[in-house]
Amino acid sequence: MSAARAVVALGSNLEGPEAQVRRAFGEVGALAGTRLLARSALYRTAPVGFADQPAFVNACALVETMLGPRDLLEALLAIERRHGRVRDVPNGPRTLDLDIVLYGDLVLHEHGLTIPHPRAHERAFVLAPLLDVWPDAIIPGRGAAARFRDGVRDQAIERLPEAP
Ligand code: ADP
Ligand code: MG
Repeated sequence: MSAARAVVALGSNLEGPEAQVRRAFGEVGALAGTRLLARSALYRTAPVGFADQPAFVNACALVETMLGPRDLLEALLAIERRHGRVRDVPNGPRTLDLDIVLYGDLVLHEHGLTIPHPRAHERAFVLAPLLDVWPDAIIPGRGAAARFRDGVRDQAIERLPEAP
């Protein structure tokens, strides 16, 4: 099997979100058969859907991986669990959320796994870090990710300064 280029979205709004996300970059890059090619800036973003919760920190990692999409998902969910992720409220607060945004040019609609991530093109907190790590990214079935940037201009996100 050959390596695929994949984008993983990272998000956190509990227990030191910046640190959660920075730590997760390393953990994603340390997965079996996986190499971290690029990490985006960190972005502070307002919660979507369930507003009464702390702001999120979001980012994207570009990886090259030998893991298939299912194995990658399982590995990411295991990292979430190590970060103490509990699922209670949908769209609610979380210590760490790891989503597969893109996996090569794959289009997949399976139980529990949809690739590309169905809301990537309409969320500034995914598009901005995605374009950081892969400016020419194509969202299969939708087109160049950069095309969608104008459509999310009204969503407030703040690029955080680099850590010292
Ligand atoms: P969300 O990320 O939508 O806020 P969760 O993190 O609680 O919600 O994920 C719920 C489920 O979404 C996961 O258990 C996983 O099976 C499923 N899922 C479907 N597609 C994806 C994807 N592309 N990346 C990550 N999880 C996905
Ligand atoms: Mg998720």
